Amino acid sequence: MSKELYDSEKVKGKENLKLSKIDEMVKKGEIDPSNVKFTTWQDKKNDDDEIIGTVRVVQEEDEELAKVEYICHRCQHHGFKKTEYKRPFWVRCENCEKSFSVPRLKGKVDKKNKT
Ligand SMILES: [Zn+2]
Repeated sequence: MSKELYDSEKVKGKENLKLSKIDEMVKKGEIDPSNVKFTTWQDKKNDDDEIIGTVRVVQEEDEELAKVEYICHRCQHHGFKKTEYKRPFWVRCENCEKSFSVPRLKGKVDKKNKT
């Protein structure tokens, strides 16, 4: 990858907001995709509909803690943490301390919001 391109396009565009840690863990066998209970992925957009941040959550069947990887939409900090999943689910950026919410996880639907 060209470093110049990386620098000039740093904030805008999904290509530059790639999450890698969870993919790496899958490759290394630290996460077994067939053992994933639920997962979600959300992009954060600005007013111009540009993607400025992203967050991914993976919860494995036998793990108490969910794995959270994110790129902060405020400061572009790329972080990874393990945290207990509870609703509503908030992730706090370790760099700027901005919190952002993560919507309902896919794969596990509960009927709580049924009206
Ligand atoms: Zn941040």
